[in-house]
Amino acid sequence: MTTVVLAALGLALAYAGSCVLYPYRACRTCRGRGHHVSSFLRAIRLCGRCDGDGRELRAGRRAYETWRRSRRRGRNR
Ligand SMILES: [Zn+2]
Repeated sequence: MTTVVLAALGLALAYAGSCVLYPYRACRTCRGRGHHVSSFLRAIRLCGRCDGDGRELRAGRRAYETWRRSRRRGRNR
């Protein structure tokens, strides 16, 4: 049982570390291209999900940013 908990803790730490090193991942909607090619007249339009960036924050990093923002807001009060 202890081994399972330690393994889970190690995985969580590794994931948190990788979120610090690599906070972004390719956008799911446009697959990192930042734009869509419309089927109508092959027009190109920017991706709405990532605003044409082609990348989005990973879930762990987004959770960390949310936590940090809520902590900062609490301190100012
Ligand atoms: Zn996108």
